[in-house]
Amino acid sequence: MNKKIRQIQLGELVLFAVIMTALSFVVTGILLKRTSDTLQNYVSNLVAADSRQLQLNIESYLDKVENTVSLLFSDEKYYAFDASDSSLSKYDKIQSEDEIEKEIVRLGLTENFSDFGIVYANDENVGMISEVTNAMFPNGGMYQEFADSITREKTMDGWSFGHQGNVDRLYYAKRLNDHAIAIVSFYGRELETVFELPEQLQDMTIRLVDGNNQILYSSNDSEIGETLDQSISDVIASMDSSATVLSDNTLINSNTCSNGWRVVCTMPLQTLMKDNHALRIRMIWTVAGVAVIMLAAGVLIYLRMGRSMNGMVDDLSDKAAHDLMTDLLNKQTFEDMVSRELSSYTGKQANVFMMMDLDHFKQINDTLGHACGDEVIRQTAVILKAVLPKEYMIGRLGGDEFAAFAAYTDKNKEQVEQEVHALMQALYDAFAREFAHEKGEISFSAGVIVEGPGEYSFDDLYRKADHSLYEAKQSGKGRASYDD
Ligand code: GH3
Ligand code: MG
Repeated sequence: MNKKIRQIQLGELVLFAVIMTALSFVVTGILLKRTSDTLQNYVSNLVAADSRQLQLNIESYLDKVENTVSLLFSDEKYYAFDASDSSLSKYDKIQSEDEIEKEIVRLGLTENFSDFGIVYANDENVGMISEVTNAMFPNGGMYQEFADSITREKTMDGWSFGHQGNVDRLYYAKRLNDHAIAIVSFYGRELETVFELPEQLQDMTIRLVDGNNQILYSSNDSEIGETLDQSISDVIASMDSSATVLSDNTLINSNTCSNGWRVVCTMPLQTLMKDNHALRIRMIWTVAGVAVIMLAAGVLIYLRMGRSMNGMVDDLSDKAAHDLMTDLLNKQTFEDMVSRELSSYTGKQANVFMMMDLDHFKQINDTLGHACGDEVIRQTAVILKAVLPKEYMIGRLGGDEFAAFAAYTDKNKEQVEQEVHALMQALYDAFAREFAHEKGEISFSAGVIVEGPGEYSFDDLYRKADHSLYEAKQSGKGRASYDD
């Protein structure tokens, strides 16, 4: 009984721990998912904002270049000059070219640009056209090449890159007149100052690509001059001029500048996921730790409770086995114990089964009251326990009926019969003493069975004893009848 209760408790405890652990994992899972979503959103917004800022930066950088060119050549004496005009005198030509060069130097443009000059229809050039640029056109064709790079009809200018395989410089060309184009160039890597990465986005790759997805600039130097990865080009082709999408765990953001170039930022989410993974592992350990602590606490409580529970359970089962009024065995327990005793050991020499029933008990109830009747029942139990040896099992079978049983291994039947007679006499004496002062006579009748070795069931003994008791009652009560 105790063991069963303990098993139930332990089972419930384990179930509780399992449910709590599972619940913790579910909650953690939801939290992690939300954390991961929030983190992804946060990074996505950060990338979008930063990419937009970079686009604005590059635009203002390019604007500055365009404005410088416009400003310098806004004076007619510069933009109207045509070195390829054969009608000009050599002196005028030299003077005009000289003025242009001086102005370029005066404005300090030589320090900020690699090229800053004008190329004419006959491929002559003035101002500061670098050796590198000149060397790109050993057989002429510079004018035509830059004329072709003018893509914007309205402003007659354009940005280009990769001329003659040179991927170091970005060129800006602007038509000044029918035979002259201003050319400006600078090193793409100078954009580093424009494309500065914020601390949180160190894993982000920033690229500037032209209309053909050729990489003009990249925070990853090695890919400058190459074509943008096909998978990224495919994604940005389907995007608005400014958008952020997630493809294959990569956050991709593209912003288009006014000259058609795009700022393309890509951010692998693995880094993000790595952090998230670490977070996940930490949380799982925490949950597991909490589960272990919970289980340990549960076991502790269980052990503590178990001790008092055991006491309670013992007490309860004791109560269930005994008659509440007299504390003798109740009928069921008495029967079970006698049956067990009868079937357990074969070396017994004699079994005693006695039944006692109070005489005229109804009358006692009627005359002295029910409470007094109860007291008589209790006193009878006290006498039975006091007089009968401790080996005797004593039970209250119900009402005013009692029974006692003992199995003897050390005495034979005759010896036991003698002892039982003596015990009966002692019971009657004790009864007489106890109730001597009571009004009227309080006595009992008994049916006593003494059996030698043999196989008997509880019912066999009970029936015989009951019969003897009946005889005792019939023959005047206040006496015992022996079936021997
Ligand atoms: P007999 O001499 O033939 O045994 O007659 P009796 O008056 O003793 O009656 P019997 O043994 O047939 O019935 C027992 C009575 O005991 C019946 C009931 O009124 C009374 N009784 C049963 N249980 C209790 C109890 O717990 N307390 C009290 N006060 N009386 C009880
Ligand atoms: Mg009776």
